[in-house]
Amino acid sequence: MNHTNSDDLFEQSKKAIPGGVNSPVRAFLNVGRNPLFIKSAKGSHITDVDGNTYLDYVCSWGPGILGHAHDEVIEAVKKACDQGLTYGAPTEKELILANMIKEAMPSIEKVRLVNSGTEATMSAIRTARGYTNRDYIIKFRGNYHGHSDGLLVKAGSAALTTSVPDSKGVPKAYTKHTLVANYNDKESVEALMGEYGQQVAAVIVEPVAANMGVVPPTKDFLSFLRKITQEYGSVLIFDEVITGFRLGYGGAQERYNIEPDMTTLGKIIGGGMPLAAYGGRAEIMEQVSPVGEVYQAGTLSGNPIATTAGIATLSILKQHPEYYDQIEENAKILAAAFRKWGEKTGQPITVNQVGSLLSAFFTEKEVVDFESATSSNTQAYTNYFNHMLQNGIYVAPSQYEAMFVSMAHTREEIEQTCQCIIGQ
Ligand SMILES: *Cc1c(COP(=O)(O)O)cnc(C)c1O
Repeated sequence: MNHTNSDDLFEQSKKAIPGGVNSPVRAFLNVGRNPLFIKSAKGSHITDVDGNTYLDYVCSWGPGILGHAHDEVIEAVKKACDQGLTYGAPTEKELILANMIKEAMPSIEKVRLVNSGTEATMSAIRTARGYTNRDYIIKFRGNYHGHSDGLLVKAGSAALTTSVPDSKGVPKAYTKHTLVANYNDKESVEALMGEYGQQVAAVIVEPVAANMGVVPPTKDFLSFLRKITQEYGSVLIFDEVITGFRLGYGGAQERYNIEPDMTTLGKIIGGGMPLAAYGGRAEIMEQVSPVGEVYQAGTLSGNPIATTAGIATLSILKQHPEYYDQIEENAKILAAAFRKWGEKTGQPITVNQVGSLLSAFFTEKEVVDFESATSSNTQAYTNYFNHMLQNGIYVAPSQYEAMFVSMAHTREEIEQTCQCIIGQ
């Protein structure tokens, strides 16, 4: 492969930034090549510093549901910039965005804006603990909720033990209240609740898991979680940082018709700017300072530029419910192409698709949890990734990240992508 400007920038970046990147997956470590350095993006395409343009299915890992640099969003942001970038004081835009979120998700009676999904989940858990006066939480293996200490855990070796840190630098003491259950496995939740139930502040779950590849909940898994958390007086937190405003305007909770006690949001609600949120029942959210005694703050929280991008994005989504049908339909067409490739080549493949999220796992197993997801042949994924890239299509550089379909992908581009998938 020829030496490129991306290669140069990567070499230089590695001297200034750990691994040359500001978030690990960007380093392309799993796909055996250097990352592309991006110069610009518009609609369904991104362009690298060498002038190559790619059809993009990463969409900045979710925020880009309208495609890149949507004219109306960019116009609104430019106008907002002229009024100042940040004030550290309340603004009307925060109120507008809060009301849009509440209207979209009636389970959210009050909402606090923050800057990242990590901050949202961390703060939601603190609030749930403050509300219940309990310390334990239950999370699911393979669900990702950002990188706060207590959530960077893996299951301990024995059943019903607490978890162990999944990162260096996290003291064991910080994860001892985090219990790990298996996704879609009711018995594992029942067992933990049986042992610790009266001390469990919250169960946090991705209602559709999208950080081990896409793994939908089995038929009554979410309603089971709703019921068992009510029985034990624990707070049910839906982490909708990916699914919120993606699986429909009302997120996964609308799609599956389950009301969680609390919800975390991010990605789409910032319209490409750093913005996230946590919210829920008023009684719970009133634990948060300055009303209650759960402390949480942020210098740039509710930033006027970020809220402007968020409001513009949500307004467009609200006005165009048909967009959701379009992206879901396109995701189904892509899913069918992967299956067709499997039939054609006899290679094992399992495709999970929910709304505009999809994943092709190179395994013959049904993928329902972390164990089955990680049975996938990652070398086959790497081959697929490189084949797509050589054909001008940029997909996630990891088996365990979703493929995101945006409003900007035309049917023609989807068909072209299908040809490429089948032709690998
Ligand atoms: C991306 C993500 C997060 C973390 O959000 P950041 O903004 O990257 O901190 C949390 N939960 C889920 C489900 C996510 O997909």
